[in-house]
Amino acid sequence: MHKGLLLVVSAPSAGGKGTILGELFKQNSNLCLSISATTRFPRQGEENGKQYFFVSREEFQELVDNGKMLEYAEYVGNCYGTPRAPVESWRAKGKDVVLEIDVQGGAQIKQLVPDCVSVFIVPPSFAVLEERLRKRGTEDEETIQKRMDTARQELEHAKYYDYLVINDRLEEAVADMQAILRSEKRKYSRNYDFAERM
Ligand code: 5GP
Repeated sequence: MHKGLLLVVSAPSAGGKGTILGELFKQNSNLCLSISATTRFPRQGEENGKQYFFVSREEFQELVDNGKMLEYAEYVGNCYGTPRAPVESWRAKGKDVVLEIDVQGGAQIKQLVPDCVSVFIVPPSFAVLEERLRKRGTEDEETIQKRMDTARQELEHAKYYDYLVINDRLEEAVADMQAILRSEKRKYSRNYDFAERM
């Protein structure tokens, strides 16, 4: 059996990646979502172990020091990291794994796992992004401004990604993601063992 695909998905905060990925998961039973650890406080409705593992700074540092993180980064004053063990065990079982991480994490994964597939999701404009961020109503004004500044900086990194998906119409963005996934899985380099056996 060959290893599952590692799919890195980055987007500015409130860029709509959660909704797109939700649809993608409905359509692909072989996909697993990595749950990150973070030091940020849970938003209303978020549960420990569901959206994130919510940990203290000390706990986070311990995970890093013990080599338990595949990658980690600081984003708008909080730490976020991908726990290594579930990703490795899923991939070893042939499951495809999605990492929903920021551009710093994306760069670390590209170095570590060169055959990962990276997708950058962008909103149709910054105005739409700001509107979505406000509508969500989970951040105060200062944080919204910080996240908008961060989004502008993040966009600079989009060029290092394999694919760019524009999140204007949801169905189209989901279809784009599905197409990326399907064609990446059909790459010869991921299937040579099958061809050899034949
Ligand atoms: P939020 O606070 O809005 O949930 O996430 C803020 C940013 O952190 C988003 O860009 C999100 O993709 C990113 N992020 C979430 N988990 C991780 C992680 O494990 N590693 C890294 N590097 N970024 C993450």
